[in-house]
Amino acid sequence: MAARPAPYLDDLNPAQREAVEALDGPVLMLAGAGTGKTKALTTRIAHLLNTGKARPNEILSVTFTNKAAREMKERVARLLGQTVEGMPWLGTFHAICVKLLRRHAELVGLKTNFTILDTDDQIRLLKQLIAAENIDEKRWPARQLAGLIDHWKNRAWTPDKVPASEASAFNNRGTELYDYYQQRLKTLNAVDFGDLLLHVLTIFQDNPDVLAQYQRWFRYILVDEYQDTNVAQYLWLRLLAQGHKNICCVGDDDQSIYGWRGAEVGNILRFEKDFPGAIVVRLEQNYRSTPHILGAASGVIDANKGRLGKTLWTDADGGEKVRLIGHWDGEEEARWIGEEIESLQKGTRGMEGFSLDDMAILVRASHQMRTFEDRFLTIGLPYRVIGGPRFYERMEIRDAMAYFRLAVSPDDDLAFERIVNTPKRGLGDKAQQKIQIAARENGVSLLDGARILLAEKGLGGKGAAELRLLVDNLARWHDLAVGPLERIVPGDDEAVVIEDEAALRPKPKISHIELAEQILEESGYTAHWQNDKTPEAPGRLENLKELVKALEQFENLQGFLEHVALIMDNETEEQGAKVSIMTLHAAKGLEFPVVFLPGWEDGLFPSQRSMDESGLKGLEEERRLAYVGITRAEELCTISFAANRRVYGQWQSALPSRFVDELSEEHVEVLTPPGLYGGGYGAAGMAASASPKMMQEAQSNLHERAAEANVYNSPGWKRMQARSATRSMSQPRESRNMIIDADAVSAFTEGDRVFHKKFGYGTVTGIEGDKLDIAFEKAGSKKVVAKFVIEADR
Ligand code: ATP
Ligand code: MG
Repeated sequence: MAARPAPYLDDLNPAQREAVEALDGPVLMLAGAGTGKTKALTTRIAHLLNTGKARPNEILSVTFTNKAAREMKERVARLLGQTVEGMPWLGTFHAICVKLLRRHAELVGLKTNFTILDTDDQIRLLKQLIAAENIDEKRWPARQLAGLIDHWKNRAWTPDKVPASEASAFNNRGTELYDYYQQRLKTLNAVDFGDLLLHVLTIFQDNPDVLAQYQRWFRYILVDEYQDTNVAQYLWLRLLAQGHKNICCVGDDDQSIYGWRGAEVGNILRFEKDFPGAIVVRLEQNYRSTPHILGAASGVIDANKGRLGKTLWTDADGGEKVRLIGHWDGEEEARWIGEEIESLQKGTRGMEGFSLDDMAILVRASHQMRTFEDRFLTIGLPYRVIGGPRFYERMEIRDAMAYFRLAVSPDDDLAFERIVNTPKRGLGDKAQQKIQIAARENGVSLLDGARILLAEKGLGGKGAAELRLLVDNLARWHDLAVGPLERIVPGDDEAVVIEDEAALRPKPKISHIELAEQILEESGYTAHWQNDKTPEAPGRLENLKELVKALEQFENLQGFLEHVALIMDNETEEQGAKVSIMTLHAAKGLEFPVVFLPGWEDGLFPSQRSMDESGLKGLEEERRLAYVGITRAEELCTISFAANRRVYGQWQSALPSRFVDELSEEHVEVLTPPGLYGGGYGAAGMAASASPKMMQEAQSNLHERAAEANVYNSPGWKRMQARSATRSMSQPRESRNMIIDADAVSAFTEGDRVFHKKFGYGTVTGIEGDKLDIAFEKAGSKKVVAKFVIEADR
């Protein structure tokens, strides 16, 4: 075949070009963030096609997300200047394996039309198995078993291959239950997510002819984000590549962030062993970020031990330093970022205006998103949440909201349906049907239908008792939410509304926040997730806390529900540029000109779990996540932390993340928090560019609050004190010893709007030494010590 021109090669540096042109044989591209691994991989596909080495359907190309797969297809087309017809084998492991398994289902005892269970179905099935085995599900929850099975599947252990060392798992019954579960799935003609890959692996292992067929068919194999493959995926790839060994894997050990889901960085090291003679390409030039962004990222990742080690450089010059800013609390942080986005949109600091599409907020935990979503809705800033539902669309939030809705409006049948058997109350389809019928026959709501059914003794057993409890609870919550209950007397032809005796009692003094907590407790919903042992459960509990926190900004439950209804309505919003909000995990492989990294506080990032863990494994993974976060930024990266976060209506002091400390000073500019110092980061307000000073400021700012919250006894505080002491001694610098100027804080004048931790917002009406007279908006007039007050934003 005549050589066709390959202009796309000119866009590559020599190392990338080597990786692209070495089409045959194993290639490992091991390189840091933004060095053009994905670009090289994409070009390699184009080159394979252009040189006629392979047709589109002969290339097996694994990406980490479906989005990445779509983008890769588009890019290949762009490189070749033509549409690429069909690349059926470019996708995630899951997507590729579904296709393969449909073709060969019978080889593992399934039919072609097998169903794929979602997590809920999977749990339901496991619960049945556990019950059938007379195991106490309270002590041995189905979700724990699900997690265990998933773990085994990630290691490519079918029931017969689970090693003896795991025999004690799940009260010594784990392996056995795993086996039952797999058998049951087969009778149901169903698979779970883990099975997709594992079944295909089994098919390949047990059917050499089938394997040989695909080894021939997939002439070239390419894998992006290789550092995050698990053992099963690795074995799968190795089998397929063993014939021709035309496999090209690209990855970065510093970006391995899925260890908690069974990914093994070790796969990178195994590659050279399994594919001797592999060409190993190292890319060192970063094309994505400014030198300051790279410098800051390197500073953080350098603190990890056991790295393969890489150098990164860029020939870009100039650019902004990474900006670091501390805020009073999470709301303040969201407000500031919102304003910052708006001014970046207009153009600021000598930079041209950015599109909203160019900006992203990357959070450690999904519950952080809520504050941003609420803020952006308030100011009308378009946003999208990537890689997951938006906060109010999450399952646990919808469940909780359904309880709140029902407490406020007992006629909300959709809400009733959602929660009547969530958590499980033994009210299955049959019982729910009876409720439906009772409601329909009497022309009343489902809740009232349930009352009538109970009154008529139309339901028996455990379900009846549970339903009674739920109905009574709902009546009481309604009472607390809006006042006396309108109750229908069951059995009357005409629904008669009577005043409940509760109406005669004085209305109990309970805030809507306490009520919300009570509802979640008494309904058993919180406990439902507390007993849940899956990796998602802690996140869901966090989200529930976050939901209660959101209530604080509203007078009552109704107001809050209206707010959310409006948010949900906003879903059918117009197209156009939007700020992206996503977790750091979802941001892998992506890049944005402007990146905000909020919530850099110990306990949030790094997560509390990683800090409590013995050993450094968890912490190092968190640090890699920080590295992934910073290296997403092309031009401007802003890291922030809040001194206080409200959890369950309680203030909690937070310490800046240890990762803040690891940012190299020379690459960081410290901004002055507007809430504390009266605004902006103009020349006067700009602090010396030294992160330790920022830490100092943060510390003295925290000081007063911390004393109250008894933070000084916490190990985190002690560690931080020790750390900053060592540092000031080893590297004396004037800025280190600068303590926040007390005058700056207490310099209030009459008429200033201020905020006090206990009493909320108010206006200064008088000044007497270090004390202020303040007319608080909710708490009335009080005299308070100035240092406990901060200036509120206007
Ligand atoms: P990550 O580790 O974050 O996934 P990566 O190594 O996959 O990063 P790419 O996303 O491929 O990096 O490339 C980063 C940026 O650099 C992209 O915008 C890409 O277009 C650009 N780039 C890559 N190689 C070159 C090159 N040789 N010349 C100019 N720009 C390049
Ligand atoms: Mg990439």
